Amino acid sequence: MQGKKTDETVSVNCTDIDCPVHGNLKLRGRTFKGHVISKHEKRIAIEFERMIYLRKYERYGKTKTKLHARLPKCMDKEVNVGDLVRIKECRPLSKIIHFTFLEKVNGSEEGKK
Ligand SMILES: [Zn+2]
Repeated sequence: MQGKKTDETVSVNCTDIDCPVHGNLKLRGRTFKGHVISKHEKRIAIEFERMIYLRKYERYGKTKTKLHARLPKCMDKEVNVGDLVRIKECRPLSKIIHFTFLEKVNGSEEGKK
Protein backbone atom coordinates (compact mmCIF):
# COMPACT_ATOMS: atom_id res chain seq x y z
CA MET A 1 0.00 0.00 0.00
CA GLN A 2 1.91 2.95 -1.28
CA GLY A 3 0.22 6.31 -1.22
CA LYS A 4 1.46 7.32 -4.61
CA LYS A 5 -1.73 8.03 -6.50
CA THR A 6 -4.74 8.79 -4.38
CA ASP A 7 -6.23 11.75 -6.22
CA GLU A 8 -7.54 9.69 -9.12
CA THR A 9 -11.27 9.70 -9.48
CA VAL A 10 -12.07 6.81 -11.75
CA SER A 11 -15.67 6.37 -12.77
CA VAL A 12 -15.05 3.07 -14.47
CA ASN A 13 -14.02 0.14 -12.34
CA CYS A 14 -10.90 -0.79 -14.23
CA THR A 15 -8.70 -3.48 -12.80
CA ASP A 16 -6.69 -3.97 -15.95
CA ILE A 17 -3.00 -3.69 -15.12
CA ASP A 18 -2.21 -3.40 -18.80
CA CYS A 19 -4.44 -0.34 -19.13
CA PRO A 20 -2.39 2.75 -20.04
CA VAL A 21 -4.69 4.96 -17.96
CA HIS A 22 -5.38 2.90 -14.85
CA GLY A 23 -2.66 0.28 -14.99
CA ASN A 24 1.08 0.59 -15.00
CA LEU A 25 1.66 0.16 -18.69
CA LYS A 26 4.24 2.56 -20.05
CA LEU A 27 3.86 3.81 -23.58
CA ARG A 28 6.83 4.58 -25.74
CA GLY A 29 7.81 4.30 -29.34
CA ARG A 30 5.77 4.91 -32.44
CA THR A 31 2.20 6.04 -32.92
CA PHE A 32 -0.03 4.81 -35.72
CA LYS A 33 -3.45 5.78 -36.96
CA GLY A 34 -5.78 3.39 -38.68
CA HIS A 35 -9.22 1.96 -39.08
CA VAL A 36 -10.48 -0.78 -36.82
CA ILE A 37 -11.09 -3.86 -38.92
CA SER A 38 -11.91 -6.31 -36.19
CA LYS A 39 -12.68 -6.21 -32.52
CA HIS A 40 -12.16 -8.92 -29.96
CA GLU A 41 -12.07 -9.11 -26.23
CA LYS A 42 -9.21 -6.89 -25.06
CA ARG A 43 -7.85 -6.64 -28.60
CA ILE A 44 -8.49 -4.69 -31.77
CA ALA A 45 -6.90 -5.04 -35.16
CA ILE A 46 -6.29 -1.90 -37.16
CA GLU A 47 -5.26 -1.45 -40.73
CA PHE A 48 -3.75 1.51 -42.50
CA GLU A 49 -2.09 2.29 -45.79
CA ARG A 50 1.48 3.32 -46.16
CA MET A 51 3.79 4.13 -49.01
CA ILE A 52 6.73 1.88 -49.72
CA TYR A 53 9.39 2.12 -52.35
CA LEU A 54 9.26 -0.67 -54.90
CA ARG A 55 12.76 -1.25 -56.11
CA LYS A 56 11.74 -3.40 -59.03
CA TYR A 57 9.59 -0.65 -60.56
CA GLU A 58 11.59 2.28 -59.14
CA ARG A 59 8.53 3.99 -57.77
CA TYR A 60 6.33 4.12 -54.72
CA GLY A 61 3.36 1.94 -54.10
CA LYS A 62 0.70 1.55 -51.50
CA THR A 63 0.69 -1.31 -49.10
CA LYS A 64 -1.53 -2.15 -46.20
CA THR A 65 -0.29 -2.80 -42.72
CA LYS A 66 -2.28 -4.62 -40.10
CA LEU A 67 -1.51 -4.19 -36.43
CA HIS A 68 -3.02 -5.67 -33.31
CA ALA A 69 -3.52 -3.44 -30.32
CA ARG A 70 -4.55 -3.97 -26.76
CA LEU A 71 -7.98 -2.59 -25.92
CA PRO A 72 -8.40 -1.86 -22.21
CA LYS A 73 -11.71 -2.85 -20.66
CA CYS A 74 -12.58 0.71 -19.66
CA MET A 75 -12.49 1.86 -23.31
CA ASP A 76 -14.23 -1.17 -24.71
CA LYS A 77 -17.48 0.64 -25.47
CA GLU A 78 -15.80 3.56 -27.23
CA VAL A 79 -14.43 1.58 -30.11
CA ASN A 80 -16.37 -0.04 -32.92
CA VAL A 81 -15.35 -1.64 -36.17
CA GLY A 82 -14.68 1.02 -38.79
CA ASP A 83 -13.56 3.71 -36.37
CA LEU A 84 -10.42 5.69 -36.92
CA VAL A 85 -8.19 5.26 -33.90
CA ARG A 86 -4.70 6.08 -32.76
CA ILE A 87 -2.50 3.42 -31.22
CA LYS A 88 0.84 3.69 -29.47
CA GLU A 89 3.64 1.27 -29.08
CA CYS A 90 4.27 -0.38 -25.73
CA ARG A 91 6.08 -3.41 -24.47
CA PRO A 92 5.01 -6.67 -26.10
CA LEU A 93 1.86 -7.80 -24.31
CA SER A 94 1.59 -11.03 -26.23
CA LYS A 95 2.97 -12.67 -29.32
CA ILE A 96 1.15 -10.30 -31.67
CA ILE A 97 0.23 -7.32 -29.49
CA HIS A 98 2.90 -4.66 -29.15
CA PHE A 99 0.55 -1.70 -29.26
CA THR A 100 -2.21 -0.30 -27.13
CA PHE A 101 -5.27 1.74 -27.95
CA LEU A 102 -4.62 5.41 -27.33
CA GLU A 103 -7.60 7.44 -28.47
CA LYS A 104 -10.36 7.68 -30.99
CA VAL A 105 -9.88 10.11 -33.84
CA ASN A 106 -12.90 12.16 -34.82
CA GLY A 107 -13.88 12.40 -38.44
CA SER A 108 -13.28 16.13 -38.50
CA GLU A 109 -9.81 15.66 -37.15
CA GLU A 110 -8.89 13.28 -39.93
CA GLY A 111 -6.01 14.49 -42.03
CA LYS A 112 -5.20 17.26 -39.60
CA LYS A 113 -2.11 15.75 -38.10
ZN1 LIG B 1 -8.61 1.48 -17.62
